[in-house]
Amino acid sequence: MSTTFYEENTVTMLAGPCSIESAEQMEEVSAALEDLGLHWIRGGAFKPRTSPYSFQGLGVEGMQIMADAGRRHHLATLTEVVDTACVETTTALVDGLQIGTRNMANFELLKVVGSATAENQKPVLFKRGMAALIDEWLSAAEYLTMGGNPNVMLCERGLRTFETATRFTLDIAAVPVIHKRSLLPICVDVSHPAGQADLIPALAKAAIAAGCDALMIEVHPDPPHAKSDGPQQLTIPVFAELLTELRSLAAALGKTIR
Ligand code: PEP
Ligand code: MN
Repeated sequence: MSTTFYEENTVTMLAGPCSIESAEQMEEVSAALEDLGLHWIRGGAFKPRTSPYSFQGLGVEGMQIMADAGRRHHLATLTEVVDTACVETTTALVDGLQIGTRNMANFELLKVVGSATAENQKPVLFKRGMAALIDEWLSAAEYLTMGGNPNVMLCERGLRTFETATRFTLDIAAVPVIHKRSLLPICVDVSHPAGQADLIPALAKAAIAAGCDALMIEVHPDPPHAKSDGPQQLTIPVFAELLTELRSLAAALGKTIR
């Protein structure tokens, strides 16, 4: 099991459900990801929901469920930390920490995550704020690296614009801009900007063609019954089919998807 996000000539797939909902759900997704030769699983335990009446996540119990499934299927685990209080428990239970779009400018959280991961060098996936300039995002990333952990991957996940046809406007140009301006690798989350499952294949191909180092795609065994982000999650068979196509595209660019 590899617990790095970044390898040269590789696109790391960070797939998994939006929210960790049950042991059965995580078992089904983990088994599929292992079969597909992937190395990571993502899942939200503390969900930063727009409405307080929406599903808030299973918390620590959710992280335990994902850690068990990951161990059984040789997958590294990734989950979001939403506040300073959960950083220590999260670092102890999972392999990678995600900072979400709503917390990009929560500098106190960034300082805590930077220092909590300084010793173990656990990878941190740092999402761009939905209304943040690339400059602001890169500057905020230094709160993490300054704490002593250089193992940070940036993640473009779409911006709030006037457009309503998609959930967020994916800034694909952020990929080459980051490669030009920063030494940090870059992931593209295609699920949250799409908001709809049928747009995912085109966005994922665009992200690989643009030169992303990792891709995030939400995958759920039964999207219509998902507790969050149902419309944008791919079923396991649809994800498997897309992965075959993405692997051919990556190969044409001299890369492998793992
Ligand atoms: C997520 O990846 O689960 C998530 C909430 O994403 P974002 O912070 O980009 O909205
Ligand atoms: Mn989601």
